[in-house]
Amino acid sequence: MLKDSFNRIHDYLRISLTDKCNLHCSYCNPVTAALKHLPHAQLMTAPEIETIASTFVKLGVKKIRLTGGEPLVRKDAAEIIRRLSEFPVELAITTNGVFVHQFIDTFKQASLQSVNVSLDSLNKEKCATVAGRNVFDRVWKNTCLLLDNGFHVKVNMVVMKGVNTDEILDFVELTRDLPLHIRFIEFMPFTGNRWDSRQVISYKEILQIISEEYDFIKLKDELHDTSKKFMVPGFKGTFAVISTMSLPFCGDCNRLRLTADGKMKNCLFSKSESDLLGALRRGEDIEPVIRKCVWDKKEVQGGQILTAYKKLDGMELKNRSMIHIGG
Ligand code: SAM
Repeated sequence: MLKDSFNRIHDYLRISLTDKCNLHCSYCNPVTAALKHLPHAQLMTAPEIETIASTFVKLGVKKIRLTGGEPLVRKDAAEIIRRLSEFPVELAITTNGVFVHQFIDTFKQASLQSVNVSLDSLNKEKCATVAGRNVFDRVWKNTCLLLDNGFHVKVNMVVMKGVNTDEILDFVELTRDLPLHIRFIEFMPFTGNRWDSRQVISYKEILQIISEEYDFIKLKDELHDTSKKFMVPGFKGTFAVISTMSLPFCGDCNRLRLTADGKMKNCLFSKSESDLLGALRRGEDIEPVIRKCVWDKKEVQGGQILTAYKKLDGMELKNRSMIHIGG
């Protein structure tokens, strides 16, 4: 079991398969990050991912989510999914959805149930502006394909003032006829993404906007949930808010992260990283490294965000870009 010094048990691992992405969302993949991709030799290979993941599973990890960068741009993504599907874990993926149609059979064979698709706008032009590519039609088609194939589909929308706030209601409206689970994510600061607290639309503000149009009810949050869930009675889907900035949920955090170059992070906002891949390649036992990294986890937001978000200067945080961490 992986316990930290605050008695939190960690059984959920997010593995980034690559720091590359086919899209260029400025909040995640800023120009400065795109210029600094990892050399191929520094990436974990498929067998290395399997070996590192097996140690986490031995230590009690029950859920693994693949992410990136865009996990599906990796040439051996299907092989990695197949390898990890052999473990007794719940396997999930977060993707921008562009290549999903090429992986439907792999997802099914791997018994992968939950797929998170990122989509920040339902407007083609705006979507192209945010993502740097005209991908709306493909992403939407693939979202429907996932639903048609019985996957549990969450749609992640990063809410940013002046960008897509006016579409919050349109996203809720989607849940009327589709069994989609919309997740409104508060905009978070990472290296290079020019975060400004004034662009954050908080949990309370999001609910206020929705309440002007819909009567909705609160759903029960499951243990370790990062999102607060709601639904409009009679609608097929649900919506939720991930309130990282205005109402952090570190108290029962169970998440650990592995970057594409095999560095373990005990929090999305942690400054420090533990080099599991280096240790593995030197033939060392990675278990003590993992245990120490978990034990050293800070109580709240990597020990970096100690003030209310409105007073935070994003430039002061020491971290990587989101695309280099793996969201
Ligand atoms: N490429 C995949 C995708 O687009 O979903 C996986 C990686 S992406 C880093 C994972 C999630 O992180 C996406 O839903 C994305 O919207 C979210 N994300 C990235 N940067 C963020 C930021 N600055 N604030 C909030 N969420 C962010």
